[in-house]
Amino acid sequence: MEYISTRGKDGPLSFEDALLNGLARDGGLYLPTQWPCFSAAEIRAMRGQSYVKIAGQIMSRFTDGEVHEDQIAEIAADAYRGFTHKEIAPLKAMEQDIHVLELFYGPTIAFKDYAMQFLSRAFDTALSRQNRQAVILGATSGDTGSAALEAFRGREAVDVFILFPEGRVSPVQQKQMTSVRDAGVYAIAVKGDFDDCQALVKACFNDAAFRDKVGLSAVNSINWARLMPQIVYYFTSALALGAPDKPVAFSVPTGNFGNVFAGWVAMQMGLPVERFIVSSNRNDILTRFFEGGVMERRDVHPSLSPSMDIQVSSNFERLLFELLDRNGEAVAAAMQSFSETGRFSVEDKVLQSALQVFSGYCLDDAGTTAEIKRCFDTHNYLIDPHSAVGLAAARNARRTNLVAKDTPIISLACAHPAKFPDAVHNASGQMPELPDELADLMSRDEQMLTAPNDMAAVQKLVLEHRRG
Ligand SMILES: *Cc1c(COP(=O)(O)O)cnc(C)c1O
Repeated sequence: MEYISTRGKDGPLSFEDALLNGLARDGGLYLPTQWPCFSAAEIRAMRGQSYVKIAGQIMSRFTDGEVHEDQIAEIAADAYRGFTHKEIAPLKAMEQDIHVLELFYGPTIAFKDYAMQFLSRAFDTALSRQNRQAVILGATSGDTGSAALEAFRGREAVDVFILFPEGRVSPVQQKQMTSVRDAGVYAIAVKGDFDDCQALVKACFNDAAFRDKVGLSAVNSINWARLMPQIVYYFTSALALGAPDKPVAFSVPTGNFGNVFAGWVAMQMGLPVERFIVSSNRNDILTRFFEGGVMERRDVHPSLSPSMDIQVSSNFERLLFELLDRNGEAVAAAMQSFSETGRFSVEDKVLQSALQVFSGYCLDDAGTTAEIKRCFDTHNYLIDPHSAVGLAAARNARRTNLVAKDTPIISLACAHPAKFPDAVHNASGQMPELPDELADLMSRDEQMLTAPNDMAAVQKLVLEHRRG
């Protein structure tokens, strides 16, 4: 399988190069030259198999000719060994054929672990095979950072630097990052918001001299290999509810559009999906896009679901590439317009084709609080604010018949409620407890670096602290 860039000027290149490069050299995002596809019979045959086995089958389709299915399954087995639920990604039934997909059984109790634990091992394997060192630079609105630092701790070939917006992540999220004190893994508090952090990372990548000097790579969701492991739980959850003989719908709490794009890929691979509900908090750039076909950046507003406080959904570029019939030049023009004017738009027929599969939904903080309370009162079940946005969207889809009556709706629970204790407590009156493995988290020692919103300052920190 070969990879190309959404902007048409990089590739084709191998899986390993796409993995290690992260962001394409033309500023675009990598994706495979075509979508591999399973027949209904092949999908049916996955029923009853383990998560790890299914992971091997799905992901090896993207590494064809380079990494064998057994090797992928081996990496997956190692990656998910420490997860605290035997099913890895279990479903919990709610009312009206709505099912919560619990994605918080990894070490940092958010769904990012599902990708990052796999990615760190794939990275280490590829780098040591090439006898290389790398620096990973990433931006986080909270959960990516802790997942990355946790996944890469102790890996010799890689130094990791994660930028996070100072004061804009929850105390638990911050502690999860700063309590990783191994050599070569650093959290950097930046004076700015998440989009500033993301812009700094992009700027460092676009500085070719710096990029080559330190062997820069990315593990935020622009990295194709970050999306790939996320495809797996779309399959396993749909299989549990009758796929491929019955379609399902997904409600996905969304920031960077990475997770929901992984779901769309599952659909391209043959999984019958009726609809994706793209659920957002008050930062509603995607909702507005699905209403009018205009992607227009506004200010980022802090919300109860900080991992979705985003006005630039980087991974949307991958969908745009598909919607524009894989025309890299058209994507590059749209992205240039977006970076210069904060805006781009698509023709009505492009919007209409997106609306065949996607719907937007947004929910403010009051609605989020009400949903957490309702869910606890009705089901005696605590959900985190991000999951609440998704669940409210799923219930709205059911109420309005956006999804057919007999189609199950799977609502992704992207974080454990104890990751956002204040919001959950204020809404429900209950204080969610951290799982046993993390019970002493808040009393652990911290290590962190700080930087202004300035590329040169960030580069200086990287050069001072990297080991390679
Ligand atoms: C990262 C994250 C999201 C957003 O996921 P994207 O892939 O960026 O759309 C939502 N909820 C939680 C808890 C997250 O950590």
